[in-house]
Amino acid sequence: MLRAENLSKTYHRHAVQVRVLSGLNLEVKTGEFLSVVGASGSGKSTLLHLLGTLDAPDSGAIYLDGRRIDNLPARDRDALRNQTFGYIFQFYHLLPELTTFDNVLMPAYIAHSTPGWWKSRGRWRARAEELLRKVGLGHRLKHRPRELSGGEMQRAAVARALLTHPRVLLADEPTGNLDADTGGEIVRLLRELNREEGVTIVMVTHNMDIVSATDRVVRMTGGVVSDDTRRPAPVPHLIAV
Ligand code: ADP
Ligand code: MG
Repeated sequence: MLRAENLSKTYHRHAVQVRVLSGLNLEVKTGEFLSVVGASGSGKSTLLHLLGTLDAPDSGAIYLDGRRIDNLPARDRDALRNQTFGYIFQFYHLLPELTTFDNVLMPAYIAHSTPGWWKSRGRWRARAEELLRKVGLGHRLKHRPRELSGGEMQRAAVARALLTHPRVLLADEPTGNLDADTGGEIVRLLRELNREEGVTIVMVTHNMDIVSATDRVVRMTGGVVSDDTRRPAPVPHLIAV
């Protein structure tokens, strides 16, 4: 479904060159929950930004359903970022002055002109409420981010990311700012949503403790990814069937 082919990326800062990706190949299957692990600085965030068209590679290509997406005009990339990809980050990036409910509705506000919003608002509100219930925040609709715990803020960010029914959720260290138990809950929630909403997930993390709930783990080192050999292959939900 999502395929990165021979990606290279070098950052130039103050005459220093940092080569982060060097000919990286990666294939993500439809419906898969994939973990990408790697040390801090190994290029995990860079890879996610490229996959989600937030940044462009120096060379190589990214395909979504066989269609090249890394070199699209800005308008088409905006549409992909709005409709096809959902993003979650380590630090939630909720807007502090908005309620949980309005934070979750934000992608719909952005996607519509004012008349478009007035026509479709009932549907979006119902979707926001449904998602907030699913992530366990049905009782926190009117709270502001500062009145939520870290785990609750990340749940709200997950609901926001899924509002527009994205096909691919890109999660950058979603548990990086949470304690182990709360982080585990977030990954279990992602697993549930992966199955219930049918959303494909790419999660990058340096925390090996949280990847056992995912379908497949790959490791980033030296600017490329390889299958992670430190973890045995079983896929829990397939064995359970
Ligand atoms: P990770 O997410 O695995 O910690 P990143 O993709 O954020 O790694 O960064 C990989 C390397 O690229 C790091 O050495 C970082 O300092 C460098 N880097 C990341 N973004 C930039 C940037 N915008 N400009 C310059 N260097 C950057
Ligand atoms: Mg990072």
